[in-house]
Amino acid sequence: KDIDIANPARTKAIMNSYGLQVKKSLGQNFLTDQNVLHNIVFTADISQEDNVIEIGPGIGALTEYLARAAHQVMAFEIDDRLLPILDETLYDYDNVEIINQDILKADLPAMVKEHLDVDRPLKLVANLPYYITTPILMSLLAGSVKFENIVVMMQKEVADRLAAEPGTKAYGALTIAVQYRMAAEMAMVVPRTVFVPAPNVDSAIVKLTALPSRTHVPFDEAAFFKVVKAGFAHRRKNLWNNLQSLFGKLPETKTAIQSALDAAEIDPKIRAERLTVDEFITLTDALHGAEL
Ligand code: SAM
Repeated sequence: KDIDIANPARTKAIMNSYGLQVKKSLGQNFLTDQNVLHNIVFTADISQEDNVIEIGPGIGALTEYLARAAHQVMAFEIDDRLLPILDETLYDYDNVEIINQDILKADLPAMVKEHLDVDRPLKLVANLPYYITTPILMSLLAGSVKFENIVVMMQKEVADRLAAEPGTKAYGALTIAVQYRMAAEMAMVVPRTVFVPAPNVDSAIVKLTALPSRTHVPFDEAAFFKVVKAGFAHRRKNLWNNLQSLFGKLPETKTAIQSALDAAEIDPKIRAERLTVDEFITLTDALHGAEL
């Protein structure tokens, strides 16, 4: 109680006393570095006003820091072996609720309504299970629960993609799906050595901040995501070829694609990685205008 959970000796002692073998299949790598935890809480800008949702509390290292800084914490943990451990490690914090559910199956809006005071600012903070980083991000972005910010640790290679600029190798469909709704910034690169056990990759903390509502929105959001996905389907092909794979190669289709690209003032020979979110929106609307 007097020592933080996030400390290599205490983490190992807790694991030993419960005979806990980590499950690699659940992405269990526990944080043992207080600096990194301070940085996460600082980056998320958490105050006593805020409610926080955590994904995967593990043995409680990050949860403890969140409980100290926030009003209330609701944490989703899939592995029921961790429940008795969390009961003990978080015994002193009466503002934490552990929910034994798979985050990808949880009804988040219902859980928020049931467990949290909905008038408070809501943030999401997690040291993510890396095997499901992308599905978790996609479901958080598409879901109806709105977060003021999302501060998440993930494998560095994925973090690079979220915060990528147009024209770089890391820029892709995931970048656009995220940057369509949130501003993404890389907050900190984290070496593998601060985890027990150490993962096989380096990590990074990414901060996603809700954008003020977008003024430039596509006429059809589903069509926008379809065009984005198709644009990056074959990374070595240019935009023209990827759009033909999406819409077909009939002469009238080609004419329609060409007129949409002209209307959007986009060079057919460029690759999708050169297009900004706004250009993809303009392109989608132009394709719609050309009846594609
Ligand atoms: N927060 C702890 C820390 O920083 O030390 C543990 C982080 S560990 C990288 C990821 C955690 O997510 C593990 O506790 C794992 O059991 C949990 N987890 C894995 N899949 C999950 C899922 N689908 N839903 C909820 N939790 C999950």
